[in-house]
Amino acid sequence: MSDRQPGFETLAIHAGAAPDATTGARATPIYQTTSFVFDDVDHAASLFGLQAFGNIYSRITNPTNAVLEERIAALEGGSAAVAVASGHAAEFLTMHALMQPGDQFVAANKLYGGSINQFNHSYKNFGWEVAWADTDDPASFEAAITPRTKAIFCESIANPGGVITDIAALSVIAKRHNIPLIVDNTMATPYLIRPFEHGADIVVHSATKFLGGHGNSIGGLIVDGGSFNWAGDARYPMLSQPRPEYSGMVLSETFGNFGFAIAVRVLGLRDLGPALSPFNAFLILNGIETLPLRMQRHSDNALTVATFLAQHPAVSWVSYPGLPSDRYHQLAERYTPKGAGAVFTFGLKGGYDAGVRLVSSLQLFSHLANIGDTRSLVIHPASTTHRQLTDAQKSAAGAGPEVVRLSIGLEDPADLIEDLDAALRG
Ligand SMILES: *Cc1c(COP(=O)(O)O)cnc(C)c1O
Repeated sequence: MSDRQPGFETLAIHAGAAPDATTGARATPIYQTTSFVFDDVDHAASLFGLQAFGNIYSRITNPTNAVLEERIAALEGGSAAVAVASGHAAEFLTMHALMQPGDQFVAANKLYGGSINQFNHSYKNFGWEVAWADTDDPASFEAAITPRTKAIFCESIANPGGVITDIAALSVIAKRHNIPLIVDNTMATPYLIRPFEHGADIVVHSATKFLGGHGNSIGGLIVDGGSFNWAGDARYPMLSQPRPEYSGMVLSETFGNFGFAIAVRVLGLRDLGPALSPFNAFLILNGIETLPLRMQRHSDNALTVATFLAQHPAVSWVSYPGLPSDRYHQLAERYTPKGAGAVFTFGLKGGYDAGVRLVSSLQLFSHLANIGDTRSLVIHPASTTHRQLTDAQKSAAGAGPEVVRLSIGLEDPADLIEDLDAALRG
């Protein structure tokens, strides 16, 4: 073999996996076990003291989950990854490793509705403050930074669809203030955008969506970019200060460029507990094997459907960066040249009522709160995912009363167009 790096499609199938050493099983086995037998007392002691890598208990590590972790780290180009129970758990455990009570982080205002809720409400219980910035205006992120700011958070392709974030511009600001840039890469997946190549430091995923890809498992992933230097930085005590439970070990010093991933695992997963089931890890691994094929087809189908909607008389606007006329088209060409993803929004001339009517008339599209399934999905955010937000927050998040969001699946696009056309004619 030459020393050329394997391509993305090859990594999607092979990274992290090997035939099972005992049985020869070629597919990654589901290690459905809570615990692992120690070789002897010394082995147990070294595992508990973090002097040796190995499995103790599936809340912290599991061999099936480890294959998934290695695979996403390879696909994103990160140093290590941690699999967790959901995308929300990925966001929470990331913040838990970075934030102390009284700290603040700056977040883009165009985010998954659940993330907006998590940041605005639940994080208050920990004394963590969110400052909102305008996704389209990098300067607004810098303006929100204070001495207590510990991170910048954004999505690559942002909810509820059709928005491309200028990750490199946010990275310049994060680096100027020496804080990590966290990118939620759920909507793009590493097939479309690899945030570390644009200066991100940490990537989080809801694996529930396109990585799993079949609408059957909730899961989340945290990927350490290995780029941020935590050592000696008192602003990040979880990483830079001696840990009493590990005999004074400093995680960033002992584990170097994957110290953040270790902190998430041995402090976050260990103490807070949102572990991913190995069965879900197995299903998500199966999904990732076809990720390149699926994301390309998702994007191609979405462009076909968006092009159809853009000329439909019942539609007032379509927000899909793959359309040449779109305001994000230039950013899309720069960040996601293979396609702009599956999820986008459009506006109905008939407003809120027309949105409610459309979701009840569609036959092939499923009306539900998810994205990234093989099946095409539809939702009216104002009456569902974004209903907890105020009207101003809804509009700021791109979820006004006339907005409908589609997640385009892998069906024949002609059938999707026929279903939409029939429902729009009502
Ligand atoms: C779904 C989603 C989440 C939350 O993930 P869960 O797996 O549902 O907890 C976070 N971010 C984005 C962009 C999402 O689409």
